[in-house]
Amino acid sequence: MVIDIYKNKGEYPEPRLPQIEHSNILKGQKALVTGANSGIGKSVALGLAKAGADVVINYVVDNDNTVDQMIKEMQGYGAEAMGFQADVSQEDQVKPMFEAMFKKFGTIDILVNNAGIQRDAPIDQMTLSQWQQVIGVNLTGQFLCAREAVKEFKRRGVVEAVSCAAGKIICMSSVHEVIPWAGHVNYAASKGGIMQLMKSIAQEVAPYRIRVNSIGPGAIKTPINHAAWATPEAEKALLTLIPYQRVGVPDDIARVAVWLASDLADYITGTTIFVDGGMTLYPGFATGG
Ligand code: NAD
Repeated sequence: MVIDIYKNKGEYPEPRLPQIEHSNILKGQKALVTGANSGIGKSVALGLAKAGADVVINYVVDNDNTVDQMIKEMQGYGAEAMGFQADVSQEDQVKPMFEAMFKKFGTIDILVNNAGIQRDAPIDQMTLSQWQQVIGVNLTGQFLCAREAVKEFKRRGVVEAVSCAAGKIICMSSVHEVIPWAGHVNYAASKGGIMQLMKSIAQEVAPYRIRVNSIGPGAIKTPINHAAWATPEAEKALLTLIPYQRVGVPDDIARVAVWLASDLADYITGTTIFVDGGMTLYPGFATGG
């Protein structure tokens, strides 16, 4: 049952959330965000720039000039920015992306492994191509980018004037790293895989002062899940899964990403921060099970 806390208004208004202040919390840091011209990645990339980082905006398709608009917006925050087209599942596209970043910015301090796709089907109808595309982008893509970032973090080491850490990786996971998802076995398997990818890299590179963590979003309003929140009926059904009784927005993730990338979170490594309004709290058991 959905508790209708807005029943007197008959609507679910967007809450007034705090904005990421234009700050220097990431000043001098160089960030790369994959899949950065839409949804969560766009909001995270803009958030990092507002917090003072220079940003590489990775994308595969940019039909509406979003990347150019983002570069202009970031420059308005005083950040340097560049776009780079690359399919993160392809090694021969990932390596040139990092080379181009190092040429322009010299190094990398923050990698946000955000790019992700869904190719949904019941298990008995799922094609090998649907399986491989999702594993390729969501899991192999995160491996390829993390590997290139760690090489540079280890080569350069800690630069105290920039950050306490030699580098930070944020993996965009999902509540589906722990919640099974019928009809989406490729997606859920990729996110479960990200959990162990993230933890194993974190364990391996912690002695080099490299921090590796995940953010596990719940339901966030982006193009990837448009059908799930686009109508009032769909949104109401979705809210039965969200104890906090609002569907998330990309800036909910961006605020956490900025903080997690900053030295405010310096002692955090190898963990997933769920940003999900309580979706992982088994809401079906709220009334006793
Ligand atoms: P989105 O579709 O708006 O963004 C996905 C981005 O990834 C797009 O920019 C897309 O172009 C890019 N991309 C796709 N294939 C790529 C490739 N091969 N190489 C590089 N980039 C590629 O969706 P979103 O909701 O913003 O998703 C971002 C991340 O958040 C994904 O990893 C997704 O699994 C995760 N996530 C989203 C939700 C949600 O509710 N929206 C919940 C949990 C996790």
